[in-house]
Amino acid sequence: MRIEVKHLSYTYHSSAPFSAYALQDINLTIEEGEFFGIIGHTGSGKSTFVQHLNALIKLPTAEKKFKPKKVRKGQPAPVYPSIRIGTYDLGDKKTDFKELRSKVGIVFQYPEYQLFAETVALDVAFGLRNFSKTPLSQEETEEKVKEAIEAVGLDYHAVKDASPFDLSGGQKRRVAIAGVIVTKPEILILDEPAAGLDPLGKREIMELLHRLHASWCKTVIIVSHDMDEISENCTRAAVFSASRLKFCMPPSELFLHAEELETLGLDIPVTAKIQRELQKLGVEVHSDFTNEDFVRRVLERVGGTSC
Ligand code: ADP
Repeated sequence: MRIEVKHLSYTYHSSAPFSAYALQDINLTIEEGEFFGIIGHTGSGKSTFVQHLNALIKLPTAEKKFKPKKVRKGQPAPVYPSIRIGTYDLGDKKTDFKELRSKVGIVFQYPEYQLFAETVALDVAFGLRNFSKTPLSQEETEEKVKEAIEAVGLDYHAVKDASPFDLSGGQKRRVAIAGVIVTKPEILILDEPAAGLDPLGKREIMELLHRLHASWCKTVIIVSHDMDEISENCTRAAVFSASRLKFCMPPSELFLHAEELETLGLDIPVTAKIQRELQKLGVEVHSDFTNEDFVRRVLERVGGTSC
């Protein structure tokens, strides 16, 4: 499912006297199959944006009380924000939003804090029951829950009857992800999936997301503030700053704009920093900013071989 966002602006409490834009005229397309990154400072609008993608925040035209503005003769027609995801029109009141939410899953930051059920299996099953149109049999539910738990790399029989609270931090996060992917969403969105994890935990979670991307969810979107994570993992990345979209391009092009990113108060990957320092010394290295490619290109320059 392709995501097509046009003219998306949003203000929380728009009737309040000092309300400010959380999003301003965002135009963005995410193709099916991408591993897409969203970067930006706290408060830049990332979370407001992703909440629109599964209609946690609805477009004005999808609200029950919406009535189109009357256009006077000679005046331009108002431009309403629009979002299309596959065949779903998120600006249409008649869209089946429950079904949409089963196809576009969101894993929020520190999702492990939202686990609540007595057992791991019940917690994961909750997501399934919540979004299923028709009630599922006990066997069907068990089968789907088992599949989801195994897809996140946990041993179903070892954890299914355990209390989620008795698991390690990393395992809890996996259970929370299982509770979202259990509906087999085509698009999986994760807000800071690696937040608070140690380097090994981060690597394991990113490896898991790549496995899910290959076999479970066609499109993965991560919100991250970690530029190394973006350069290592994403096909393209969007940079949000002060409610606007500033860039949307592959990391290999994005980090050529290092100065502008730094002006926005954003960091750049370690590889981009070293590349810049080398350039100052007159050594030109052109890499796609992934560690592997960068090391290979540097070794090529000095005549060594890659390990
Ligand atoms: P990010 O995810 O990049 O940190 P957000 O989308 O959460 O950014 O926030 C964008 C803007 O909207 C910020 O100015 C923030 O203060 C404001 N905002 C976010 N959530 C709310 C809310 N529930 N009520 C009022 N303002 C909000």
